[in-house]
Amino acid sequence: MSFELNDTQISIVNSAKNISEKFDDDYWLDCDLNSKFPQEFYEEVASGGWLGMCMPEKFGGSNLGLREASLFMQTISESGGGMAAASSIHINIFGPHPIVIHGTQKQKETWLPPLITGKEKTCFGVTEPDSGLDTGRLKTKARKVQGGYIINGQKIWTSTAQVANKILLLARTTDQSQTKKTVDGLTLFYTNFDREKIEVREIKKMGRAAVDSNQIFIDNLNVSDDDRIGEEGKGFRYLLDSLNPERILIAAEALGIGKNALKRATKYAKERIVFDRPIGKNQSIQHPLAENWIELEAAELLVAKASYQYDNGENAGGLANAAKYFAAEAAFKAATQAVVTLGGMGYAKEYHVERLLRESFIPKLAPVSSQMILNYISEKILGLPKSY
Ligand SMILES: Cc1cc2nc3c(=O)[nH]c(=O)nc-3n(C[C@H](O)[C@H](O)[C@H](O)COP(=O)(O)OP(=O)(O)OC[C@H]3O[C@@H](n4cnc5c(N)ncnc54)[C@H](O)[C@@H]3O)c2cc1C
Repeated sequence: MSFELNDTQISIVNSAKNISEKFDDDYWLDCDLNSKFPQEFYEEVASGGWLGMCMPEKFGGSNLGLREASLFMQTISESGGGMAAASSIHINIFGPHPIVIHGTQKQKETWLPPLITGKEKTCFGVTEPDSGLDTGRLKTKARKVQGGYIINGQKIWTSTAQVANKILLLARTTDQSQTKKTVDGLTLFYTNFDREKIEVREIKKMGRAAVDSNQIFIDNLNVSDDDRIGEEGKGFRYLLDSLNPERILIAAEALGIGKNALKRATKYAKERIVFDRPIGKNQSIQHPLAENWIELEAAELLVAKASYQYDNGENAGGLANAAKYFAAEAAFKAATQAVVTLGGMGYAKEYHVERLLRESFIPKLAPVSSQMILNYISEKILGLPKSY
């Protein structure tokens, strides 16, 4: 593994920078203040072909690795777009992976090209109000009927459901009482987001208002057999294929937030004069920033090694989780410290660090919480007894 970026990777970072330069701080603040999906940014990313960067070339993608995707996502987040920029395209990068791996030729031909060109948007419906992180206990039910299924239930936190035309949906097809494990008997569907049958209620939330998150209520949604991915009952296992890459991508996005926050804090610490000297001359200002730098560099190494393992077909479970955990914590600390460094102005929207702080909570909570990552490392890496 080399620490140097190769020519392709350098050009990917430069492309991400070129796209990001067209969208300044005011753009992201406006999206945040007005809960506005960053459609112009999304279209710019789509027109460069980046929405399909990890999808097969045969369907219009670029078949790039996770290392390349992480560099792209880190760069757009680091530009100041933060989670708003990253989340507007995140689902496209590894979300459709179960289709790529387990879909039929016809499903791939039909579903992937419109996602890659940006003509269609998808959302991801897994989390439910009553099951939370215990995914196997989800209750949304897909009842088998002639030629397809009828789905009823509800999901929570479904991001981009306001703008999506499609949904990747996990539903129970076999009663939990009849399965060995709670995660058995779940089936994965990719289907039209039929607004006649799915009611969407937006959740007003702390940050990343540009990218909506919602409660959705599914009432007798008809889904054809052709919309089922792979075999019935194996949906959760198919999702596992995309869990590690998703964690690594979120880590990269968090890293971008942390680095942007640190840049803003350092600049302010050099320029702001109080008591006749720059505030950055005080060790209580400069030492925490130095710590942020160290932690972000360490997080970057974890992201690089985790993506290297994934791209080389190694088991990346431990490091993917570690990278997500550590990058999320480092980003949150850096964003917090940025607000502290800017003092009162850190609390003002026009200085942007409060937006970064609000957004930096997301990688700590989703798609899996820091606590569950510690559970995973304790059990799967250290061999300690399962605690729950
Ligand atoms: C901004 C945002 C966007 C999201 N987008 C999507 C999306 O598009 N699609 C989707 O399906 N979901 C989405 N989610 C949901 C997200 O994945 C869940 O919020 C997350 O999985 C946590 O589930 P929960 O909120 O139900 O927490 P809970 O399961 O209720 O957990 C609450 C707390 O208890 C802790 N806890 C629970 N069990 C244990 C245990 N055994 N050991 C230690 N601690 C434990 C957790 O770590 C957490 O701190 C999103 C969430 C957010 C905030």
